[in-house]
Amino acid sequence: MRTTITKSDWLISLACPAMAWHGLRADPVAPSEAEQFRMQQGQEIGGLARKLHPDGVIVPATAGKTPAQMTRECLADLHKQTFFEATVAVGPFVAKADILRRHDSAWHVLEVKSRFSDGERIQDLVNDIAYTVMVFRRAGLNVDRASLVLLSRDFRFGDGPDRLFETVDVTANVMKRVSDFEVTSDETARLLFQMTPPAPILVSACRECPFFDTKCLGAGISHTVLEIPGLHHKKLKRLSAEGIIDLAQLPADLELNENQQRTVNSALSGKPIIDHRLGKALATIPWPCHYLDFETVSTVLPLYKGHGCNQQVLTQFSVHRRETIDGEPEHRDYLADAGQDCQRDLAESLINALDGKGAVVVYSSFERNRIKALRDAFPDLAAPLSIILGRLVDLLFFITEFVSHPGFGGSYSIKTVLPALVPELSYRGLAIRDGDTAITRFARMARGEIRGDDIVPTRQQLLDYCKLDTLAMLRLHGVLQEMAVSAASGAAD
Ligand code: SF4
Repeated sequence: MRTTITKSDWLISLACPAMAWHGLRADPVAPSEAEQFRMQQGQEIGGLARKLHPDGVIVPATAGKTPAQMTRECLADLHKQTFFEATVAVGPFVAKADILRRHDSAWHVLEVKSRFSDGERIQDLVNDIAYTVMVFRRAGLNVDRASLVLLSRDFRFGDGPDRLFETVDVTANVMKRVSDFEVTSDETARLLFQMTPPAPILVSACRECPFFDTKCLGAGISHTVLEIPGLHHKKLKRLSAEGIIDLAQLPADLELNENQQRTVNSALSGKPIIDHRLGKALATIPWPCHYLDFETVSTVLPLYKGHGCNQQVLTQFSVHRRETIDGEPEHRDYLADAGQDCQRDLAESLINALDGKGAVVVYSSFERNRIKALRDAFPDLAAPLSIILGRLVDLLFFITEFVSHPGFGGSYSIKTVLPALVPELSYRGLAIRDGDTAITRFARMARGEIRGDDIVPTRQQLLDYCKLDTLAMLRLHGVLQEMAVSAASGAAD
C-alpha cells in the first residue's frame, strides 16, 4: 500500500473517499498505449511551457535524495527565480508544481494544462491547482498567486511556443478552494489510511469506478440500479439514501419510463425484451444500406499546416453496402496518408462510395457531426454532403428505443451491444481493438514515430479495425431484423 497522498488521490477522494482508499491499495496498472501517448504529449506541452521562462531551472534528480530534499536545496539559492518540477512533501501529502516562481517574498504556482483557455471546464482545474497550493503552503512556502497555463485557440501548426499558451490568473478561486481543503485535509488523510474503507455511498462516480463490482457496492450483485438508462440524478440520490443497489430491490413507487422499465424487466428476467414495434421501425430504413464508420486523429499539437491544437481530423472510413437484408455485402474503405491532411480527398471518396440511393447507417451521432464539419470545411461539396446527411439512419436509436438485453449492463456502446447480440463477432483477434489505440497509431505515423517497414502493417491494422466496425453494424442490423420477426410472431400468438 502507498503511504503518500498525491494530487490524483486527492482529486479522486473529492468524488469518493472510498475510491481513493481502494486506489491507494490497488496494484498499479500499466498505462495503455493511448494513455502513454497522452502522457507523452503532456510532457511535450510542459517542455514548451518552460521555454516561456528561460531563467528557470529543473529541480534535478539526485541519487540518495528525495525530490523534496532536492527542491529544498534549490529553493535556498536566492539568485534563482523560477523552478520546474519543484516537489514538496508534508505529512502524507506530496505535490509537484509545474512552474514555481519567486516574486518579492512570496511564490507563484503555475500549472500547465493541455486545455483551451476559453474552455468551459477551466473551473475543474481549480481543484487541481488548489491541491498543489495547499500542500506548498503547508510546507511553509508563502504562495500568494496561482495561474493556469492553457492552450490558445489562435495557435497554428508551425507557430512558436510564445503563441501556444495563455496564462490565466485563478488566484481568487484557488485561494477559496485552498481554504476549503485546509478544513478537510487532515480528516481526508485519516480516512484514506484507516484500516477499513470509508463507508461507500452510491454516487454518479460509481458508474466509472473500477472498484464498483469487484470491491464495493456492486460486488456480488448480478444487476444493479446503475444499469437503468438515463436515471435522473434525483432518483439516484433517493436510491442512494435508501441504500438500494440491487435492481431486484427497486422500490415499487420509483417512476420509470418505458425504456427504463423494459431494461429492469430484462435484467431481472435474464432475457432480452424486444418491443413489438421494432419491425415497423426497421421497415422505414430504405435499401440499399450503406454501413458507415469514421476514424479520426486528434493531438494536442497540430499535425498539419493551418491546423490548431486538439483539432479533430478525419482520417479513415469504412463502408459496407448491401442491397437487401440477405444480400452479399460489398466493402469499400479509405485511409489517409498520415503525412498530410487528406480530408478533401476523403470527402470526395466518401461522396463517391455513398453515391446513389438508400440509407447510410451509422451508430451514434459521431458520423453526422463529422460530415457536418466536412461540409463547413469544403463549401463546394456542401450539396452532396447534405444529401448524405439526409440519408443517415442511426442504428443506436433502434436499440435504445426497442431492445433491452441483460448483457448490455446499462451501456449501449457498440463494444457492449455487439457481444450481447452478435457474440460470434469479436474484436479480440485484431491488433487494434479500440478507437483510442487507432487514434494513437495514426498519430504516431503522422509524427514519424512509426516509420519504415512498420507503416504497411499499421495501416492494415487500422483498415481491419474500421472494417470490423461496419461489419458489426451490418450484422447487428440483421440480428435486429430477426428479433423483430420473432417479437412480431410472439405478439401475434
Ligand atoms: S463504487 Fe462508488 S462508493 Fe464504491 S468506491 Fe467506487 S465510487 Fe466509491
